[in-house]
Amino acid sequence: MALRLHDTLTRRTETFEPAEAGHVRMYTCGPTVYDRAHIGNFRAFIWEDLLRRYLKWKGYRITQVMNITDVDDRTIQAAIDRGVSLEEVTAPVTRSFFEDWETLGLEPVEQNPRATRHVPQMIELVRRLEEAGYTYAKDGSVYFAIDRFPGYGHLANIDPDSLRPGERVEGDENYSKENPRDFVLWKGGGRDHEGDVAVWDSPWGAGRPGWHLECSAMAMEYLGETLDIHTGGVDNIFPHHVNEIAQSEAATGRQFARWWLHAEHLLSEGEKMSKSLGNYYTVESLVELGHRPSAIRYLLLSAHYRTQLNFTIEGLKDADRAVGRLHEFRRRLAHTPVADGPSDGGSHLAELAERWRSAFTAALDDDLNVSDGLGATFTLVREANMALDGAGSFSAAGLDALGSALGDFDAVFGVLALRDREESEGAAGIEEWIEERIEARAAARSSRDFALADEVRDELLARGVALEDGPSGTRWKLLSQAD
Ligand code: AMP
Ligand code: ZN
Repeated sequence: MALRLHDTLTRRTETFEPAEAGHVRMYTCGPTVYDRAHIGNFRAFIWEDLLRRYLKWKGYRITQVMNITDVDDRTIQAAIDRGVSLEEVTAPVTRSFFEDWETLGLEPVEQNPRATRHVPQMIELVRRLEEAGYTYAKDGSVYFAIDRFPGYGHLANIDPDSLRPGERVEGDENYSKENPRDFVLWKGGGRDHEGDVAVWDSPWGAGRPGWHLECSAMAMEYLGETLDIHTGGVDNIFPHHVNEIAQSEAATGRQFARWWLHAEHLLSEGEKMSKSLGNYYTVESLVELGHRPSAIRYLLLSAHYRTQLNFTIEGLKDADRAVGRLHEFRRRLAHTPVADGPSDGGSHLAELAERWRSAFTAALDDDLNVSDGLGATFTLVREANMALDGAGSFSAAGLDALGSALGDFDAVFGVLALRDREESEGAAGIEEWIEERIEARAAARSSRDFALADEVRDELLARGVALEDGPSGTRWKLLSQAD
């Protein structure tokens, strides 16, 4: 089946095909590393990870590039405020960004270019634009003249003439433009308050690149002049992506990105989660509160990317329970004995798995409809649990079909692998102790000392370990503080 995606530029949901058969070139606007990312930022990154994983699951090879913005107004301001170098601000933040990335189980992407290491490519792009007649220089800065680029603003449905002077052209206020709506490509140095925090030589004198320029230059460096998919959060549409289109297409004369995809915001207390409002959580702060990364990942993925999602701790606890249900089901499968002789329930299980596969694919093919995809997965779990509860025996083929359905689910959602990791990390030190206590409890029960058995159970519970007695013995699981 074909994947259909919603393109912000055409405002239509259409069948996706990469330019080169079987190979998707994708660019993702990365973090600005002035301060640790919050989970709102990670909503965008995790959705991009889902898109990447789903494309891979459908058999595409992916080349994904996500930049690190390590020079811009905010990083420079942070360096000035703290009296340190740019690198001293950005290096630790970049490190913690990738720690959080790992914690939430995002796949590494093929390239993570740093803006500061691509200044020559940015200068070259400005030079091309200058040659083509789209720029003007003033006081050491270079500007893009938007009225020389027909179609400016289409992505954001913006009529350039309706923009009020200076409106939302963030960070450019200090620059002397001919037209207040123009944006700056190269910011001339020598501005007193910035000192020499970030200065490079250029044909227009010392200075530094503008933020929009960074992404166009790095995208084209690694992916060529036309990419298949460009992603970001909706706040990137204007002015950032509008300006990326203008400067890239003016320079090359070609379409810059064939598809533009944008994720809606994560809200907190009804407003966009953001540093400036202070209504944010980081991955680290949630983990310190005892929440599991698998729950954070599940929650951030559980709403369609084009709808807003309101973050609450209650929602996070629900997400934790949802992951728990899927994980328990997979554990149950692993413990279900395979029929020795002929089985009567195996083909039913295989049928359920087949039905899941077509429902799951249809859902995600429909512009990544995760709600229907998760719905189909919980239907599978419910129906398979009913089948396993009933009398019957199950062939390896039937059980394997269910196992591979869950494997496929997780190749895309990546939450069960995280839960496995959490359990094995949490269990590493105390596993032996738990096994020893479970044996002690079994011994107490067999000598009918139920009070002692209960005491052991409570002792385990106090350490966050829950026991479950079943036909194949006693199993245990770690509870999160959220349980
Ligand atoms: P920044 O580090 O500010 O450049 O943002 C990195 C990414 O996070 C961008 O793609 C933004 O669109 C996205 N983003 C920022 N805040 C939120 C939010 N509250 N919800 C979803 N995405 C966000
Ligand atoms: Zn960007």
